[in-house]
Amino acid sequence: MRSDTLSIKCPKCGGCADFLEPFKFTNGIRADDLPENFKRWGRLIVEELFPDHFAWVDPEISKPRFLQSTDDDGPGYRLNHRGMLDCKKCDSFEKVAIDWPLDAYWRWNIKGFELLARNREHALEILSYLRERPRPPLRTPGLKHIPTPLLQEKHAVEVSAQMAQDLMAA
Ligand SMILES: [Zn+2]
Repeated sequence: MRSDTLSIKCPKCGGCADFLEPFKFTNGIRADDLPENFKRWGRLIVEELFPDHFAWVDPEISKPRFLQSTDDDGPGYRLNHRGMLDCKKCDSFEKVAIDWPLDAYWRWNIKGFELLARNREHALEILSYLRERPRPPLRTPGLKHIPTPLLQEKHAVEVSAQMAQDLMAA
């Protein structure tokens, strides 16, 4: 699971803001006493990162399962949903509920194809791949979701130009 920070469109100013997950999950070490703000969920230890705002509530499923987007259904913990909004542009730091990927900041619709990046670094990774000539046939996990038609020469030029312009502006 990629756990890097998501960039979201700030609901207050429209700028590029960070979305911070309220919990950190690590594999559990057998320990009887957990420090304050640490909880156990199956084989995982859950750390409450913003305990003033989010307290861990055990999902009703003993084997940890994560839901990644609003399309995922069923029991488990929903990532990319509730957390903290951290916007440097309007100086906001507060609770937020997001709808991923709809609230993604780095999101393009070109020729009807949706292109999505988790954050600036991811967008730059995609951009440099689109500009590569010749392009390596094997794609790293971060590049797998680029719609194939956008990789065609005629589209790739347009996509790259649009991405570069937006990355400069933000
Ligand atoms: Zn803002």
